[in-house]
Amino acid sequence: MPAEARRREGGVRVMEAPPPNAPALPMAPVEEKKTLVSESTRAAKAPDLRANVSPAVSPGVGPSSSPPDLPRAERTLQKPVQLSGAGLFLGRPATARILPGAPSTGIVFVRTDLPDRPRIPATPDNVFARPRRTSLGKEGREVETVEHLLAAFAGLGLDNLEVELSGPEVPAGDGSAKPWTDLLASAGIAPQPAPRKVFEVREPISVLDGEASLVALPAKDGLTLSVTADHAPGILPAQALTFTVEPAAFVREIAPARTFCLQAEAEALLAQGQGKGGTTQNTLVIGADGRPLENQFRFADEFVRHKVLDLLGDLSLLGAGLRAHVVAVRSGHVANLLLVRKLARAMDERRVARTAPKETLLDVRELLKILPHRYPFLLIDKVIELDSYRRAVGIKNVTFNEPYFQGHFPGKPIMPGVLQLEAMAQLAGALLMRKADNQSKLAVLLAIDKVKFRKTVVPGDQLRIEAEAVKIKNRTGVVHTKATVDGQLVTEALLKFMLVDAE
Ligand SMILES: [Zn+2]
Repeated sequence: MPAEARRREGGVRVMEAPPPNAPALPMAPVEEKKTLVSESTRAAKAPDLRANVSPAVSPGVGPSSSPPDLPRAERTLQKPVQLSGAGLFLGRPATARILPGAPSTGIVFVRTDLPDRPRIPATPDNVFARPRRTSLGKEGREVETVEHLLAAFAGLGLDNLEVELSGPEVPAGDGSAKPWTDLLASAGIAPQPAPRKVFEVREPISVLDGEASLVALPAKDGLTLSVTADHAPGILPAQALTFTVEPAAFVREIAPARTFCLQAEAEALLAQGQGKGGTTQNTLVIGADGRPLENQFRFADEFVRHKVLDLLGDLSLLGAGLRAHVVAVRSGHVANLLLVRKLARAMDERRVARTAPKETLLDVRELLKILPHRYPFLLIDKVIELDSYRRAVGIKNVTFNEPYFQGHFPGKPIMPGVLQLEAMAQLAGALLMRKADNQSKLAVLLAIDKVKFRKTVVPGDQLRIEAEAVKIKNRTGVVHTKATVDGQLVTEALLKFMLVDAE
């Protein structure tokens, strides 16, 4: 199988070469630097990087269920499942009951142990990084250490779920995502009747936080993560891994990788009252010899695999699929969440750009796409200003050839006031129908209020019509309109519309 095809099917591969800022090997011991954000480990000697990496394509990577980037339906679980245990940092026991979620509702945590059972959606607005973990909070109610569970959801391609949690922290399991992927797989996965939202990165989006840097690059398809874990130069080997997200490969290659900590760091955390739930069975506690205490590595490069796991969990907080290649160097939760927020902003900006275009001109052909009116009843020639769906300025050149002048005082032609109102209503209706939700609707005039005709309009005049939305609700809109000729007000009115389905 060609390498490219294999990559698209998802799985692990190691970067062809270490990134330019990776230390030369073998690495000399360096002064220990405290990193707040990492789950870095320190070991006394530095094993050769090459001894610690997988082959260019992991032999365990097999065919996947589907190419990663195909548009797909949202997914949830077929039935509820649950798992209990102590959390990693607070050490408090809790049960996480994971239930199917309604389409397009995302991941929502519910604190069942608190009054009113507060709901805390897993969104960029609610996320914050506590040291060495990712937490969610809304109005002072929090859920701690969500990242491994979120990684399991993202790795399996689950979009909508409710997580009822009977305590403040997600159970630690064995410090990896494997207990969760086992549990979720046992429930079965169900497609839902809504397309999954995907944010496609079109230009590089990068963040820098101390020694951590991340960049999301455009990608042809799917989500690929390239992570360099180099948190303890000279002590731990630098490890680099590229992983294309796909469920089967995630379950096999990434989900079993456990969280890790240096023995010295573990002792310091415990002294601060942190990491109360941490044991040598749910955390790889790395001793001075670079080996885990009372435990064994599952992969030679388990650190970087766990970094991939954390990054995937954190990125899932975007609340949409991601088409991107994310390159992360010395990443940790703080830097990951900076990237999530920046991606969320870019996603919002694109949504605004799509639903509220900033064009300043619509010619008659574009107007014809929005308005149902046709000659001789299309009374707007062009739109010269359009500020989202709040304000529009349109132009109507009143010529002697207008059909109504034949009968409306042929000797002294005057544009009928009701047709000025119609022109104003057409512009106002176009404004309301620009709003994304209303694009398949018609704006039907419901009421005309506060009408004033101040001057007559005659052939040769250019009507400049301004429409400003005063109130827009689900099914109605109120727009203030006025028309001027040469800067002189000729007509004004308050128009109320009802939005009805076009069918
Ligand atoms: Zn982790």
